[in-house]
Amino acid sequence: MRVLVISDIHANYTAFETVLEDADDFDAVWCLGDVVGYGPDPNACVELLSEQPNLICVPGNHDSAAMGDMPAESFNGDARRSLLWQQKVLSASSMEFLDSLPKKIEANKNVTLAHGSPRDPVWEYVLNTMTARMNLPEFDTDFAFIGHTHVQSVFMYDEKEDRVSLDIPHVGMPISLSGRGILNPGSVGQPRDRDPRAAYAIYDTEALIWEPQRIAYDIETVQARIREAGLPEKHALRLAEGG
Ligand code: ZN
Repeated sequence: MRVLVISDIHANYTAFETVLEDADDFDAVWCLGDVVGYGPDPNACVELLSEQPNLICVPGNHDSAAMGDMPAESFNGDARRSLLWQQKVLSASSMEFLDSLPKKIEANKNVTLAHGSPRDPVWEYVLNTMTARMNLPEFDTDFAFIGHTHVQSVFMYDEKEDRVSLDIPHVGMPISLSGRGILNPGSVGQPRDRDPRAAYAIYDTEALIWEPQRIAYDIETVQARIREAGLPEKHALRLAEGG
């Protein structure tokens, strides 16, 4: 099965649509949370996501916050402004969809899905090998797919050396998975690794191949929509910077 693995769409419909077109042929979609937050089109993103084949999705911190599951004060100024706006515009059916998601789930016998980390599915950032290592006992499958950092990254555990490595993968260089690992497809709607192109991955469940991907999308259209909605200018500018 060819799985499209996506995360952190962040209400960026244009980026999401472009990723779906670019990924082209897939049998399932695994989504690692933060469907809403920051961007101008939360309802359209939830709707398009919910139409995807064999969808499995976990919620992110922005999704939980939009549902009122955590205080708006836990977000900084601009993120809070955006959050209050999302709460205002989210439709009943979007809320229902986000509310139905499990925080952590085994997508198949090999892979666990969580937004932040297997240990703390909503909040923890896995940015370094130490955090990745501490998370290995927190899931029973070989691999965990996570989002939240908005950085494409691959943490692999070498059992012989008892060591966790971190690789920043490159498009066009598929990774053959073995042993155990924690993998992040990057962010569809708000990349933060200095590459403004939308990020995603394709995972082949039989061959155990992880293919990191990037695709350029129409950032200016999204920036205009952000300004139109009266959302923070910072969130428009960062899209072009990939930061
Ligand atoms: Zn996010």
